[in-house]
Amino acid sequence: MTANLLDFDLDGLAAFCERLGEKRFRATQLFRWIHQRGASDFAQMTDLARSLRDKLPSVCHITPLPVLSRQQSSDGTIKWLFDVGDGNAVETVFIPEADRGTLCVSSQAGCAVGCRFCSTGHQGFSRNLSTGEILAQLWYAEHHLRRQFGQNERVITNVVMMGMGEPLQNYSALLPALRVMLDDHAYGLSRRRVTVSTSGVVPVMDRLAQDLPVALAVSLHAPNDALRDGLVPLNKKYPLSELLDACLRYLPVAPRDFITFEYCMLDGVNDQVEHAQALVALLQTHGGRGVSCKLNLIPFNPFPDSGLRCSSPAVVQRFAQVLLAAGVVTTVRKTRGDDIDAACGQLAGDVLDRTNAAQRLAAVRQTEQAIRWVPRGGAT
Ligand code: SAH
Ligand code: SF4
Repeated sequence: MTANLLDFDLDGLAAFCERLGEKRFRATQLFRWIHQRGASDFAQMTDLARSLRDKLPSVCHITPLPVLSRQQSSDGTIKWLFDVGDGNAVETVFIPEADRGTLCVSSQAGCAVGCRFCSTGHQGFSRNLSTGEILAQLWYAEHHLRRQFGQNERVITNVVMMGMGEPLQNYSALLPALRVMLDDHAYGLSRRRVTVSTSGVVPVMDRLAQDLPVALAVSLHAPNDALRDGLVPLNKKYPLSELLDACLRYLPVAPRDFITFEYCMLDGVNDQVEHAQALVALLQTHGGRGVSCKLNLIPFNPFPDSGLRCSSPAVVQRFAQVLLAAGVVTTVRKTRGDDIDAACGQLAGDVLDRTNAAQRLAAVRQTEQAIRWVPRGGAT
């Protein structure tokens, strides 16, 4: 099997080129063709020496993930379902806003953490994505959207690792992918525009702080261990005090001077005034001085058999008021792409059933033009 060049960060590509007897600047040229220009055909790379262009196809390739479906919501949100083989699919979501274009990227097929309110967690874990499979989502989305919008410049300005999977349980593949996102010869995103979201894999949060401290979002969901143990099973291994200690260690190197905490609002479970008060106490006193943070309240996106409901808007507002009154910066996250199930926690949940995933995926291929959504713009 020859190498897929999407698997390499620049140093990895330079090492690969060196094995072919090529200088580092050739790797930089190749890297720019791949990530800045979206090239997948070596014949296009006209500034590479002819001899190299002729040699490359026998030793490597640039192969994206097959697209199983593309859905576009009435609010402009686009969701792709990519085939990662063996009946597994992952999802990637583009969220356009006035001043930015955010891509929500998956890191694993399924997830082993098994949070109670997450449909990916309910599916169980299939496997880690490779660096190339993580980057293929960005590579495809960026260059597809440039073509769709008739634009030469960057369309995706922000990346959030908030798709399927726990990114910090796939760190060896994640790290080179993050490097490519930040590399000026590739996507050139700043560290503050790339966010890793984690359910709290404490030791790997410390490694990220050391290796490449991008923006960090931590999925909190509860103000005490008893409640969090039941929602995020990983809490039994890394309880709240250890998680918040890790946040305090991350803050000095973080690209912004706060950590984002995500809190999914579950009707009657974690959404009462006393939960809000306990959350204020926790965030403002932990470690003596509290944790500099912003709190994102996420309305729960229901999925079949979750047995959970979203808090009512009035309850969400009441919860937010307690936090705001105490001085905790709090936002209620807008739900996007509801009509295509692109909202958090619904990714691939409706098409992937691990018991018969292969058959279901075949069905998805055939019914790509699902009735619930209206494609706009034509190109797929
Ligand atoms: N595994 C990582 C990143 C992927 S999940 C993490 O847990 O942080 C991205 C975000 O979506 C997390 O904050 C997660 O808690 C949230 N989420 C998962 N399922 C959800 C659902 N059904 N409704 C609302 N948010 C959900
Ligand atoms: Fe995994 Fe995140 Fe879903 Fe939890 S919320 S099961 S960590 S993807």
